[in-house]
Amino acid sequence: MEDKTVYLDHAATTYVKSEVFDAMKPYFSEHFGNASSIYSLGRDSKKAVEESREKVANAIGAEPREIYFTGSGSEADNWALKGIAAAFKKKGNHIITSAIEHPAIMSSCKYLEGEGFEITYLPVDSDGLVTPEQVRDAIRDNTILISIMFANNEIGTIQPIKEIGAIAKEKGVLFHTDAVQAVGNIRIDVKELNVDLLSLSSHKFYGPKGIGALYIKKGIKIPSFIHGGQQERGKRASTENVPAIIGLGKAIEIATENLDEYNKKLTEFREKTIEGLFAKVPYIRLNGHRHNRLPGNVNISFEFIEGESLLLMLDMKGICGSSGSACSSGSLDPSHVLLAIGLPHEIAHGSLRLTFGDENTHEDVDYILEVIPQMVRKLRDMSPLWEAVKDKK
Ligand SMILES: *Cc1c(COP(=O)(O)O)cnc(C)c1O
Repeated sequence: MEDKTVYLDHAATTYVKSEVFDAMKPYFSEHFGNASSIYSLGRDSKKAVEESREKVANAIGAEPREIYFTGSGSEADNWALKGIAAAFKKKGNHIITSAIEHPAIMSSCKYLEGEGFEITYLPVDSDGLVTPEQVRDAIRDNTILISIMFANNEIGTIQPIKEIGAIAKEKGVLFHTDAVQAVGNIRIDVKELNVDLLSLSSHKFYGPKGIGALYIKKGIKIPSFIHGGQQERGKRASTENVPAIIGLGKAIEIATENLDEYNKKLTEFREKTIEGLFAKVPYIRLNGHRHNRLPGNVNISFEFIEGESLLLMLDMKGICGSSGSACSSGSLDPSHVLLAIGLPHEIAHGSLRLTFGDENTHEDVDYILEVIPQMVRKLRDMSPLWEAVKDKK
């Protein structure tokens, strides 16, 4: 094993920045008060929670009272879908989503199908894009919600959210977006985009895990997801996780301040990696849109190899990546996202996702551009299929 670790899996999670951790610390000890208590120890916590709410609101162009803290991005997604479904079931039972959503959306949709809702899963093109026209054509009289993710966690493709928002507004249908991968990477203004509900999660932008938020535009009434006390204006009972809420606020504030610089740095790493791999390795394919993609996302399929084998070899060199397939979670099926963009199973199985982040350097990029081509060569040399292709050249 190498001592060096090159972490390239920021789409899975990020470390907590020291400024974020420092901001959280006092709320575990001196300021441990329950934010709902009346004495000053509780009021201090309450005040800090409300400041955090303001920071989240400012980051996405919302008002503080439109922000509800949740236990995760998954919870925000579940609440948005199940909440709108429950609130509007008298109006209609049709929901539009895409074929490449995160499991938090996909599984919520499957659950709602069991409850009698009809779900349209819009197919995507080979770049992973949903077109605004597809959304328009799918809207029916009984459509109550459109839920299209802002940016895809596997292939990085960014959807035409503003255009979809405009259609939703014109047709009077509510629009939710899972922006868990976008917040902290892309500037977002919910008013300008005509987004009615938006999910975000702190651990994707250097905040703690287990805390997220759902933006619900004022005037939209959805039922509580957790019943109990009056926290979150009676919408989400649970004693506030004050340190995590403070961490989310600090992380989103830092991310918003540094957005342009961060975006530029990650785009450089991404471009250098894509160009470097294409120059050095034959028979590869870039997954996701060439330009309309998350700044730090590289997803490449290598023909004639297994992504899992490549990941294990990378791990031996201290490089953390992801296969972009569900194999690692115990399933042998390739990712639904890679299949949805039209990849045959065998090519989907040879996929590698590398997602850059704040602590990466140009040296990291040079390092992977040195080792990945060697590993791919080694793995292909063990493949009988590769032998056949190679001999024909
Ligand atoms: C990570 C992620 C989620 C889930 O967020 P958690 O806070 O980990 O539950 C949802 N959607 C997308 C697109 C994600 O990347």
